[in-house]
Amino acid sequence: MRSSDDVVLAVLNAPVEMRTADIARQVGLSTESTRKIRIGESYVNLFPKVDRITQEQMSRTCESCEFFQRTSKRKSWCNLGYPEACNSRFARGCGAYTQRGAA
Ligand code: SF4
Repeated sequence: MRSSDDVVLAVLNAPVEMRTADIARQVGLSTESTRKIRIGESYVNLFPKVDRITQEQMSRTCESCEFFQRTSKRKSWCNLGYPEACNSRFARGCGAYTQRGAA
């Protein structure tokens, strides 16, 4: 049986591009509790050296990125050539993400 410290660490160590709901399912917490741990609203003093993700990172999707192109419901791509672009989860961890209309 895992301690609550282990659960918090598992949440914090999950890949940034992973959806919160999927992490929640893996660790056995609610999505909301998992979200709060991820962005540092809960357990912020536990493992303080482990980075939390920002609310901005949390809401990133390829669809909101300047480099995302779509010509139809089934045809979309990343102008920078990242093959994962059709997977909206990818944008959270993409270092090239640029908010559409920000430039
Ligand atoms: S640059 Fe990154 S975030 Fe933007 S569309 Fe390509 S893969 Fe998605």
